[in-house]
Amino acid sequence: MSVAELVTLACCDLAAITRGRSIPADAVEAHLRAGVGWVPANHALTPHGPVAEGSPFGSIGDLRLLPDASTRARVEPDREDPALELILCDIVETDGGAWPACPRTFLRAALKQLQSELGCTLLASFEHEFQLLLEEPPEMPFSVVAQRRAQPFVGKVMDALEQAGAEPERVFAEYAPHQFEIPVAAAPGLAAADRAVLLREVVRDVARRCGTRATFTPLLDPENAGNGVHIHFSLLGTDGSPALYDANRAGRLSELGARFAAGVLAHAPALCALTAPSPVSAGRLQPHHWSAGAVCVGERNREALLRIPPLVALTGDPGPQMRLEYRAADGASNPYVALAVLVHAGIAGVRGGLQEPPILDRDPSELDAGEGERYGVGALPGSLSEALDALAGDDEARAWLPRLLYDAHVAIKRSELDASARADPEELCRRYARIY
Ligand code: GLU
Ligand code: MG
Repeated sequence: MSVAELVTLACCDLAAITRGRSIPADAVEAHLRAGVGWVPANHALTPHGPVAEGSPFGSIGDLRLLPDASTRARVEPDREDPALELILCDIVETDGGAWPACPRTFLRAALKQLQSELGCTLLASFEHEFQLLLEEPPEMPFSVVAQRRAQPFVGKVMDALEQAGAEPERVFAEYAPHQFEIPVAAAPGLAAADRAVLLREVVRDVARRCGTRATFTPLLDPENAGNGVHIHFSLLGTDGSPALYDANRAGRLSELGARFAAGVLAHAPALCALTAPSPVSAGRLQPHHWSAGAVCVGERNREALLRIPPLVALTGDPGPQMRLEYRAADGASNPYVALAVLVHAGIAGVRGGLQEPPILDRDPSELDAGEGERYGVGALPGSLSEALDALAGDDEARAWLPRLLYDAHVAIKRSELDASARADPEELCRRYARIY
């Protein structure tokens, strides 16, 4: 029996589930102008399945998934397993007008604002961790054996990501059982978020091809390290110069960079409602999980919400290496929304002339209360519910979000919290491992 060549027109929804509709490969050209049908209520689906209670979308309305041909990505067939081919889409009204809750459109607008207000473009890279769901006992963290044990998955996934244009840079076994990390090359803002969506789907698909399952759940085991999605970003000035870099300042972070960072820190609790938005996400963001233990900026510090990664003298010019790493994102976040709100927070920091944050040189949990205050170090929200309250109470952050997107997001998240209320932490982690 032959197998149809299909291309999926896809989008990533507010619960970070990639959904879409597939068409025959030879019909792609014919769909580039008008895409395929889509339904507003699809953006009110909780990751548990049902439509969220209290969502702004009902049974009425129609939209289009409008493909962006530049995102077309293909992973070749593997024996009898057909090719995986995706084109990422904007969600638009049936007349082509912007739909306010489209995450891709939201990011595009934020990047435009970055350009018009600060004269900067953004390069970003989403650094993903994930775990394979395997019964066997794990090998040692970071070991060659752990990596070899997971063959041929590891080799196949790197090949597939390369084919898909995701530019994988490395792969290694991480700290938690059967955990891996795959950093990819930086790309301009929108393409970086596209790449994040693609990476998640390619990893999941290759794991499936290998007869196993990969999960990007923020936390698989409440007692162990979680799966982060660290967002690395840098800003380029109009002449292409690294706008976050200044050789003569603390942390070599430019004044613009420090104020941008101040905006991210100032809005951190609200940001978590969008970047770490599952009921298990806060469990990952605990001190000493090497995720993000406190709201602060630190140089080479894996407990800081914002980390300045090392500028490696071995490779020459430090300027182009300069970037900030936002560590409180995870696989339950929509990459477009997460990056967009980071950009908005940064712009707000610069616009408001926020005080430059001190660069913390030690583990934030070692500070006493007085030092904590002096260094401006705060705690991250202890739960999704706290994060949603922080967002609700942060008028400035709420104003960045189109009303429809905010209402749909909150409805989904509140429904998830309701559905999770009676589950113990282990059961909740198991549930989210099945979702992500
Ligand atoms: N697994 C850690 C997290 O949840 C990150 C470890 C690291 O790559 O520094 O964010
Ligand atoms: Mg890691």
